[in-house]
Amino acid sequence: MDIITSVSEMQQRMLTARQAGKLISFVPTMGYLHQGHLSLLEEGRKRGDLLVLSIFVNPTQFGQGEDFEDYPRDLEKDSELARQVGVDIIFAPTASGMYPNGYSTYVDVEKITENLCGASRPGHFRGVSTVVSKLFNIVQPHVALFGAKDFQQLAVIRRMTLDMNMPVEIVGMPIFREVDGLAMSSRNVYLSPSEREQALVLSRSIAAARELVAAGESDSATILAKLTQMITEQPAARIDYVQICHQLSLEDQDQIDEDSVLLLAVFVGKTRLIDNGFLQVRHD
Ligand code: AMP
Repeated sequence: MDIITSVSEMQQRMLTARQAGKLISFVPTMGYLHQGHLSLLEEGRKRGDLLVLSIFVNPTQFGQGEDFEDYPRDLEKDSELARQVGVDIIFAPTASGMYPNGYSTYVDVEKITENLCGASRPGHFRGVSTVVSKLFNIVQPHVALFGAKDFQQLAVIRRMTLDMNMPVEIVGMPIFREVDGLAMSSRNVYLSPSEREQALVLSRSIAAARELVAAGESDSATILAKLTQMITEQPAARIDYVQICHQLSLEDQDQIDEDSVLLLAVFVGKTRLIDNGFLQVRHD
C-alpha cells in the first residue's frame, strides 16, 4: 500500500493505472476511520482492481466556528486499518496542495442544498461538491462509494455527477451503526459518557417514527412534534433540525409516503450528530 500526498503524482499514477485498464474504485473520507468507512472500503475492494482511499479534512466544507481545527486525525492508525481491508493507495493531500494560492473555482449544486444541512451550514455543500469534483479529477475513479449516513451529501454528489456528466458510478452504502444503534461517526469521540448515552435519542427517534407510521400515523407534523419532545427531554440535546423530506427532492413533506425520509441533526453537548432513515418498509 502506498501513501501519496502530492496531487500531481497521484494524478499521474492514476492516469497510468487507467491506461493499463485498471478498474478504479474510490472512497473519499476525512479519515479517523471507523467500521462505517471500512464497510465502504470492503465494498470498494470487491468492485475494483485498484482501491483508493482519500483522507483529507477539507477546510472549505467547514464553516466559521465549526470543528475544522479539532477534527480528529490519526493517519498512522488509518493506514493500518486501510492495509487490513486491502486499500492499494491512500491519497492524503495537504490543504495547500488542494487549494494553492490563487485558487478560485467552486462547484455549487442548487436546490437540494437549500434545506437541512445546507440551511444550517451555509457553504458546506459548496465545499463538499468542490472537493469531490477535484478528487474525481485527480483519482479518475470508475466507481465511488459514499455512505447514506450523510444522506443529503449522497444526493448532492449524485446530482453533481449527473449534471456535470462525470463518468463515475456513485454507489450509496447503508448506515453502519454501533450495536446500540448510534450511527458511527468520527465525531463520536467527542462525546462524554453521558452524552454518548443521550446520543442514542437520534436512532431511537427514527425507530419511534417508524412505529408511529406502522401504526397508521401519516401526518408529518404529529410525528415531528412527538420526536421533538423526545429529543428535548435529553438535557444535553439541542435540535438543529428534525424534518421529514422526500428522498429525491429533499423538500419537506406534510404526509408520509414510501419516499419519506426522516432526517435529524442534533447537537449533543457541543457535538453535532446526524442520522436518517426511511419511514416505511421499502423493497428496493
Ligand atoms: P467522513 O469521513 O465522515 O467524511 O465520511 C466519509 C464517507 O464515509 C462518507 O461517504 C460518509 O457518508 C461515510 N460514512 C461515515 N459514517 C458512516 C456510517 N456510519 N455508515 C456508513 N457510511 C459512513
